[in-house]
Amino acid sequence: MRKKLVVANWKMHGNLASNRQLLQAYIAALSSLKQVDVVVCVPYPYLAQAQSLLQNTNIAWGAQNLSKDDVGAFTGEVSAAMLRDFGATHVIIGHSERATAYCESDENIATKFMQAKKHGLTPILCVGETLIEREAGVMQMVVGQQLDTIINTYGASVFADAVVSYEPIWAIGTGLAATSDQAQSMHEFIRSKIATLDNQAANSMKILYGGSVNPQNAVQLSAMKDVDGGLIGKCSLSAQEFAKICQAASECSA
Ligand code: PEP
Repeated sequence: MRKKLVVANWKMHGNLASNRQLLQAYIAALSSLKQVDVVVCVPYPYLAQAQSLLQNTNIAWGAQNLSKDDVGAFTGEVSAAMLRDFGATHVIIGHSERATAYCESDENIATKFMQAKKHGLTPILCVGETLIEREAGVMQMVVGQQLDTIINTYGASVFADAVVSYEPIWAIGTGLAATSDQAQSMHEFIRSKIATLDNQAANSMKILYGGSVNPQNAVQLSAMKDVDGGLIGKCSLSAQEFAKICQAASECSA
């Protein structure tokens, strides 16, 4: 059985004082949870703070984006090696808030995915459909195409030990989560798509669900066979709620 993984996406929230409180509350609430891996993806300026507070705990840390290039004249970009310098282990790639607001193409996202892997970071690749696409019944086609950009360029084996987060865009920050059946059905589609090309990669990759996860729906979502954990936005800003979600995931891992 794959160990569950719960990832906090703080987005552009926090400051030095509030982060310290939140991370200390995470540490206190999560130190006894052994059946779940926990990662917190902080804004870039707080990577050093995360590193100093979280080292030697059972919580890892990461970033919410990275540059597709190694080094050079790319003003405002942050490289994979820089993330590694601060002990980051994971990086979110292709979050819909970035894809929409910063016009990230699928090709760019694919390059970033490989850039993370090349530097020993675990990519957390976000995929998902809009409400219009779901209502039109083309959600699997849309998510399939998002994965194809990576598969066609680098092969399916690159998904080994990677993380894919299914984040229906209509569920992000809306309070309207996918049902556990909707999530399971898409997660099964994603895993079997990779499995037809590389079974080992399909079994080792983790598929998270993200989009309005809260302590209540986390119980049912975590119980689904192909839901390996969650990517948590709003509820990760409360240590209490985040810990309950991690607890729900941990109970399903046991
Ligand atoms: C997200 O942005 O990745 C997310 C899942 O947000 P929320 O939990 O707030 O819907």
